[in-house]
Amino acid sequence: MIVAIDGPAGSGKSTVAKLVAARKGYAFLDTGAMYRTLTLACLENDVDVDRAEAVVAEARKHRVGFERTDYGELHATLDGRDVARKIRTPEVDASVSTVAAIPEIREILVEQQRAFARGHDVVAEGRDVGTVVFPHADVKVYLDADPEVRAHRRAVQAAGGDAAKGNDAGVDEEDEAEALAALKDRDERDSTREVAPLTMAEDATLVDTTNLSLDETVEVICALAGINVLTKNPKLEKHKKQVEARKEKMGRVARALSPELRDKTPYDETLEPMRHFHNTFDDYYDHAMADYPLLTRLLYDLIGWGVFCVTKLVWPWKFEDDDEYFEWLRAQDKGTVVIMNHVSMIEPVVTVTHFWRKGLRLRAIYKEEFNRFTFMHWVFTRIGCIPVSRGTSDLKALRRAQHALERGENILIYPEGTRVKHEGDEVETMGGFALIAQMAKTGVTPMAVVGARKDHRGPTLKRRHSFIGIGRPLAFGSLGVKGRKAQLEAMEAKAMERVWELRDALRREHPGED
Ligand code: C5P
Repeated sequence: MIVAIDGPAGSGKSTVAKLVAARKGYAFLDTGAMYRTLTLACLENDVDVDRAEAVVAEARKHRVGFERTDYGELHATLDGRDVARKIRTPEVDASVSTVAAIPEIREILVEQQRAFARGHDVVAEGRDVGTVVFPHADVKVYLDADPEVRAHRRAVQAAGGDAAKGNDAGVDEEDEAEALAALKDRDERDSTREVAPLTMAEDATLVDTTNLSLDETVEVICALAGINVLTKNPKLEKHKKQVEARKEKMGRVARALSPELRDKTPYDETLEPMRHFHNTFDDYYDHAMADYPLLTRLLYDLIGWGVFCVTKLVWPWKFEDDDEYFEWLRAQDKGTVVIMNHVSMIEPVVTVTHFWRKGLRLRAIYKEEFNRFTFMHWVFTRIGCIPVSRGTSDLKALRRAQHALERGENILIYPEGTRVKHEGDEVETMGGFALIAQMAKTGVTPMAVVGARKDHRGPTLKRRHSFIGIGRPLAFGSLGVKGRKAQLEAMEAKAMERVWELRDALRREHPGED
């Protein structure tokens, strides 16, 4: 299956294509990155991009490729060197259209793009993937949006924000005007060049993302590709006809937008929506946090900011090298089970807060005994925690965690069960985390903390610096064993081993912290 997504700069192609690919387990091909990589080669070697012959000669000297990072992301490479960041600079932006307009360059890269897709399911994005590279693609989409909206997204992206998450990184009108001018210039050059100009293929579906969120756009494309999704969103109604037509053509069921099939999904559609007030505790455990009443969601943000400011001042903490991890996690269809060593109350609080800052929800599993304290029970419920009764197989809690993961929320578990206050205390790990991940058909992310341990000889409120490391996520398929039970055991052992390795590495990096 080939899904071809074309469109102008800033229409959201890359983000959307990546998410569609992740949802279906298809390979993702960013053709723009290839043109950018050759442009970078020219800039690095002082080749004037206006001299087509020199550019072609330079291109023949290099090898453009992709390599998979630890997180499964494909990064562009130039002669084997990871250039993922270097190709996203304003200098490359300004020259890439000139390079991409050279017919020989296109010939070289189109050949490589077709080779990439041979024998694979691929989501490819670019300017000509539906018209020239893969004219027989199974699904063709042309993504567009108002130029101002696209310029806003680009300006936000350049400033390190994320428009899809409402984090606009403080860009102002001037930034947007600049982005708009650069974008219009590039669109103009891409659409008017002689070879493979940017146009919509005749058989492509136009998806205008001006008023669609990222999730909505992904849903529409998945629906067109016959990938099962759910939606109740009225904004997507207008695409319903296209989906219906596609269903017939492909001879298979696109579940999207089709109410009669929704009950076959893992989502509990029988749940009543939450009310503004008077919800039960169970309501909070069973509903997605995004569906909590508005006031509760505002409270969550307030707590998030409060905890962030106070802890950064009183108990400074730092997550190490997490950009790639969160990029990877955001692209996943389901959530992950986060496990960690447990030394104080600081790390669960700051971990949940850090996920919140990244626009993700992390629901902590906690022991039911805490519910004896009414206030704690109330607060834990509002921030999405799920209680578990220890010592029994609390199937209800397991199912709640499973459903949360299937909805894309993440779960935080401390397998050591209780805080290990003193180094050398006996630790009994609980394997429930692996079972939850297995039930939800997702993986486990090992994390470790150092520095948060309370110095029990000194004052309780002593300033402590914590460092939190994130390990490579573990998938059941990567454990090298077959069978549910064997996989479960392997996951329990391996994931905890990773936590401790990670903790030891952090201790070496930050001597004196434990
Ligand atoms: O998509 P992205 O902005 O990374 O693309 C960078 C540039 O590469 C585009 O402006 C266009 O000039 C060129 N390109 C192309 N054909 C493609 C993909 C990108 O000409 N299929």
